[in-house]
Amino acid sequence: MTTQIRLGNLTIHRIVENEGPMFPVAEFFPTLANEVLEENRSWLEPTYFDPATGRVVLAFQSFIVQTPHHNILVDSCVGNHKPRPMRPAWDKMQSDRWEKGLAATGLGVGDIDFVMCTHLHIDHVGWNTRLDNGRWVPTFPKARYLFADRELAFWTQKHKEDAAAWPWIGDSVLPIVEAKRADIVKSDPALDDLVQLIPTPGHTIDHYSVHVGKPGTDAVITGDMIHSPIQARYPELGMRADYDSKLAGESRRKVFGRFCDTSTLMCMVHFPAPSTGRITRWGDGFKVASG
Ligand SMILES: [Zn+2]
Repeated sequence: MTTQIRLGNLTIHRIVENEGPMFPVAEFFPTLANEVLEENRSWLEPTYFDPATGRVVLAFQSFIVQTPHHNILVDSCVGNHKPRPMRPAWDKMQSDRWEKGLAATGLGVGDIDFVMCTHLHIDHVGWNTRLDNGRWVPTFPKARYLFADRELAFWTQKHKEDAAAWPWIGDSVLPIVEAKRADIVKSDPALDDLVQLIPTPGHTIDHYSVHVGKPGTDAVITGDMIHSPIQARYPELGMRADYDSKLAGESRRKVFGRFCDTSTLMCMVHFPAPSTGRITRWGDGFKVASG
């Protein structure tokens, strides 16, 4: 499934790999107080929290941004054929949904100029590589892959210490570095006048989001700066896999504060369809108005 969003001279496509109830709410948001959950249940269910299973509904998807100059893939999901013994649902996955979604955009792997991994978690790097005669090779034959400096250093070290614990670094990140396709980025570089990275650390050590377009016709691909709209209402609410939840909360306040009450479209990778919305205030926090 793909959805096309037009913004000025940009086109943004969603390439969905999977969507559905995933993790139990209390496990996913370990500090979410029960009374706060109860207070918000009515608007969260059934779209964001599944009442039947008590699980957070998450999408796993990529965004492709087509500018007049480049085709940019932001985040590359879980991927196929990757050994993931710790996650049975993703272990050696064989799904054609993501590839069909890419084909439906009219683009092929050879059309992607840049792959931007907002961070190097298991569900954001998978399609970076594909299996070729038993070797992991870059999926996108001409793309440069943008990794944040400290993010790559952090995960490379983790992998060095215990390769079996972080298999996706070994099969989906390091082969890109070895193939000399990685561009290591620092701070908040701009690719051109239409594409700029925004540092949003916290969920991981050097997470970034991607700002595209010009004022009035712009969008932010958030990556995992946010997982569920309850983290807009309560920006300090951390999730289970955060590197530094306090810092992640500061990043959310900063980015939502900057784009609040503007026309900037937020594209949130883990929100179920339509996965996009504009930011307004809600009490001491923010609301993501869908659409
Ligand atoms: Zn994620």
